[in-house]
Amino acid sequence: MKSLVIGGGPAGLQASLDLANAGYDVYLVEQCFSLGGRAVQIVKNYPSLTFIKDFMKPLMDDVYNHEKITVFTNSEVIGVDGEAGNFKVKVEKRPTYVNLEECNDESCAKAMDVCPVEVPNEFNVGLDKRKAIFVPFSYSVPSGCVIDEKSCLHFKDGSCSKCSEVCGGINFDEKKETVEIDDIGSIIVATGFDLFDPNLRPELAYDKYKNVITSLEFERMLDENGPTKGKIIVDGKEPKSIVFAHCIGSRDKKVDNPYCSRICCMYTAKEAYMAKEKIPDATIAVSYIDMRAFGKGYEQFYEEVQKKQVLYRRGVAAEIYGNGDKVVLRAEDTLLSEPYEFSTDLIVLAVGVEPRSDSAKLAKVLGLQLDDCGFFVEKNVYDTCETEKDGVFIAGCCQGPKDIPDSLMQGSAAAAKAIGLMQRCNT
Ligand code: SF4
Ligand code: SF4
Repeated sequence: MKSLVIGGGPAGLQASLDLANAGYDVYLVEQCFSLGGRAVQIVKNYPSLTFIKDFMKPLMDDVYNHEKITVFTNSEVIGVDGEAGNFKVKVEKRPTYVNLEECNDESCAKAMDVCPVEVPNEFNVGLDKRKAIFVPFSYSVPSGCVIDEKSCLHFKDGSCSKCSEVCGGINFDEKKETVEIDDIGSIIVATGFDLFDPNLRPELAYDKYKNVITSLEFERMLDENGPTKGKIIVDGKEPKSIVFAHCIGSRDKKVDNPYCSRICCMYTAKEAYMAKEKIPDATIAVSYIDMRAFGKGYEQFYEEVQKKQVLYRRGVAAEIYGNGDKVVLRAEDTLLSEPYEFSTDLIVLAVGVEPRSDSAKLAKVLGLQLDDCGFFVEKNVYDTCETEKDGVFIAGCCQGPKDIPDSLMQGSAAAAKAIGLMQRCNT
């Protein structure tokens, strides 16, 4: 009996590995070009301040190279029939137009070099550009380049085939294919999350000022291999004052997100800590509603951050406006019931977690329910892995916001449940 895992972020990777190590054949379907999910855009974890890459890269490699795991990247589950113990699944595999067995780092580099098309690089949230043929990120798995057919001139108007002249792995004739897999005993959904779009709060002027950015843009700047080579640079200048604003798109009924996103208090604390390391003389403040430092070691880390002269002030972000080179955050102090303002070189919006925009489509394919906020519904509050549909389990942020350790744990829990079910089906 085989198992299907949908989503190749931390929860899906961990679930796949646990299932495979228990002897089950696993099919892992990931929508993006690489495994890793959103975790790979993060530089360091909290509270350990260890590099995420040092954890994620071996996990991604272990999964990709496991003899019992078949990985489909750039793919999507489009059909599921049957029942627990005997599902039949259809997977649509989209072409990458590059045969990785026929190319190498050198030919990939040459192909990217000759490609005339530049588009915003999604991995770096548009802070730099990539080519139409590109490597998704420095440690992507599978490694090597892919062609984005939406921006490639060959597919737009047939006017280019330059990459094929320098790389033997290019195959413009590669077609989309549908793979049918039967004898699937269990399905684990681990499709992750989207981030809140701050343009949905126009009063925060995200689109108006270059020095109002999201926490993910800030994170990408912290990466030594990122678009700014690890320098915090906005509009060509290093900011000498930074204000972080919590709860952007979370705990906010006006944008239909009444829940707490659980990760942004702590990722902000980490980003503030790293900012202070990079610019020791910077003035750093955090405007927060209340601090959610619930994990092991989180409270102590929060104290460490404050010892670095990071000022925490209670406040709900109400408005941002420009004043010369500065931007001003107007907030409401919820303790004193009075407004205050921070005038600063840079404002970082701690954007929250949202259900993936395609969750409803997948829920329909799988016959699952979504809750009022759009996350997949668990069986009950004491069993957050099982769903109302026998044989289909959920793990990670598709069930609700959580950090990487909790996602890994839920991935393992879902795998254990799936193994138990498949063992029962076999007896
Ligand atoms: S064929 Fe497409 S990917 Fe290749 S070089 Fe031309 S535009 Fe770039
Ligand atoms: S984790 Fe913190 S910043 Fe994020 S929504 Fe919850 S309270 Fe707000």
